[in-house]
Amino acid sequence: MSEPLASHSRHRPCRVRDVPRWDLDTEIAIVGFGAAGASAAIEAAGAGARVTLFEAASGHGGTSALSGGEIYLGGSGGTPIQRSAGFSDETEDFYQYLLMAGGPDADAAKCRLYAEQSLAHYEWLVAQGVVYKNSFVPQRIVEPFTDDCLLWSGSEEAWPFCESARPCPRGHTPQWMGLGGGKFLMDALARRVQALGVELRFDTRAVALIADDANRVRGLVVREGGVDRYVRARRGVILCAGGFIMNKAMLQQHAPHMLRANTPIGTVDDGSGILLGQSVGGHAIHMNEGFVTLPWYPPESLIKGIMINEQGQRFINEDGYHGRTAQMILQQRGTRFWLLADGGIFKEPEFSEFAKLRIGAAAESWEELEAELELPAGSLTATVALYNRHAAEGRDPLFRKQPKWLKPLTQPPFVALDCRIDFCTYFTFTLGGLDTSVRGEVLTASREPVAGLYAAGRTSSGLPRWGAGYSSGLSLADATFFGRQAGLAAARREPAGDGT
Ligand SMILES: Cc1cc2nc3c(=O)[nH]c(=O)nc-3n(C[C@H](O)[C@H](O)[C@H](O)COP(=O)(O)OP(=O)(O)OC[C@H]3O[C@@H](n4cnc5c(N)ncnc54)[C@H](O)[C@@H]3O)c2cc1C
Repeated sequence: MSEPLASHSRHRPCRVRDVPRWDLDTEIAIVGFGAAGASAAIEAAGAGARVTLFEAASGHGGTSALSGGEIYLGGSGGTPIQRSAGFSDETEDFYQYLLMAGGPDADAAKCRLYAEQSLAHYEWLVAQGVVYKNSFVPQRIVEPFTDDCLLWSGSEEAWPFCESARPCPRGHTPQWMGLGGGKFLMDALARRVQALGVELRFDTRAVALIADDANRVRGLVVREGGVDRYVRARRGVILCAGGFIMNKAMLQQHAPHMLRANTPIGTVDDGSGILLGQSVGGHAIHMNEGFVTLPWYPPESLIKGIMINEQGQRFINEDGYHGRTAQMILQQRGTRFWLLADGGIFKEPEFSEFAKLRIGAAAESWEELEAELELPAGSLTATVALYNRHAAEGRDPLFRKQPKWLKPLTQPPFVALDCRIDFCTYFTFTLGGLDTSVRGEVLTASREPVAGLYAAGRTSSGLPRWGAGYSSGLSLADATFFGRQAGLAAARREPAGDGT
């Protein structure tokens, strides 16, 4: 007869004295087999530690396997692909860009370490079996439909980013035909995890941490086949369980504005990693921040258009990353937004089906279009007239869009691409999580490490922590690189003995 389930909770630890028995004994217990967990496991096992990986799903991958697999890489003069495309990416430029992308509270230590070691991280990824084609896509796209590699994947060329850091494309997509290179990335990492002899426990969910009275983490309670098992983790526990975009109550509490975006993207992402960390004193930061996007370009000619709100006003330089535009949309009043284009630049967006992007109105004059959109008389027309006057002079004194994207919008027909927030598909995932050191140690509110506890990926608040600065590839860069740091740090920690 199976014993009744104890009432373990992600919100409070199971105390060591309450552990009825140790069912499993390992050195490092990792929660979650996405990019962060796999990278942590590879480094920890490679350093000689005994590692057990617990995954709630029946296979590896997590959200990482659904992704484009694009990783933000550069610095140290550039990866071979950047150099071959004619770019030299200096570490200082990369660092400055990461700082800006991280926003007003960027983690300077993480940005510095990643900028300095990103080239070595590229080499590490290649050594794990991730293949990159030596090719560059010069046009502004979201993700390649081909197997090409290097992309402009952020706001590198746009103001204000271009003023602090010399622009360089840094998005590296694995050689995989079509969208969804994340599966290829995860399969490569998973093969390596298996080759290193990591013990894998699928269909097994972490339900509580085990800690002593001083909140030193000693292990984990996992639920497997409906039975609670008590896992001793002698060197530590690494939480890599993703973010909390699927947990509506947490969104309501921490990031209610993100509920305006209608399409959460992820798999489990129920916040369990963050809650487990908080249960022993881990401090969660930037919980209000998230990635949001509406992929309104490509084609890149649409970047020459102007984005307006329902007051008929511009609010952003349209040449930044599409996620930056969407982030600014989220912060506007009202739900109606349009991208205005003229006959010279308008082409159907490549993701029109996917993102439900449709023409909201078309007319032979801007006045007619304004009336058709039922905007206050003179609002849209004044915005377009001012923009056109400046564009003809090759400048945008209001929002500093770069000259290469400036063109007066004077050629009929005039088109309003409907970007309504309550209709189009706005994709979103969370960026807030546990505060961690550069070694992946989970930190308390006073930034002391919680002994024996590490976190990485979207369970932590890492390089990407500001929606308005997010660049494609930053989440997986952070998950893989700082997952590795957590794995190494845990493997170096002195193991706890039987009496502790
Ligand atoms: C369509 C799409 C495209 C994207 N494209 C990119 C891109 O190109 N580049 C980029 O940088 N980012 C991209 N992202 C974002 C990126 O994929 C994620 O932010 C990143 O993969 C998170 O990695 P992770 O290791 O933290 O989490 P995950 O990969 O989600 O791994 C977490 C794992 O933990 C498991 N788990 C959760 N709770 C528990 C529990 N209690 N017990 C046991 N296991 C648990 C989950 O099942 C999951 O397998 C994209 C996302 C999507 C959805």
